[in-house]
Amino acid sequence: MPWWHSKGIEWAMGLSADELRLALAVIARRQADADATLDCPRCGHAGLALADRSARPYAEWYQLSCAGCGLDETVHIPLGPPVIGGLD
Ligand SMILES: [Zn+2]
Repeated sequence: MPWWHSKGIEWAMGLSADELRLALAVIARRQADADATLDCPRCGHAGLALADRSARPYAEWYQLSCAGCGLDETVHIPLGPPVIGGLD
């Protein structure tokens, strides 16, 4: 089973699995540092816009927009009981 499927993550199909992995890293970076400069998961452009549209406590929604390559995708992370196992 793909790692993202086991975690219940859904995302717009415009992102590849590798891009999703990078997108999740970007989201984690923003959560760790609200002022962090974020890199686009597709083109690496610094200055990715990340909008938190989460509907806590049910789910987290993030919209990623990049002025460099035109990326405009959303990532949905369901909240709930912890899932056993990490990203790897
Ligand atoms: Zn980009």
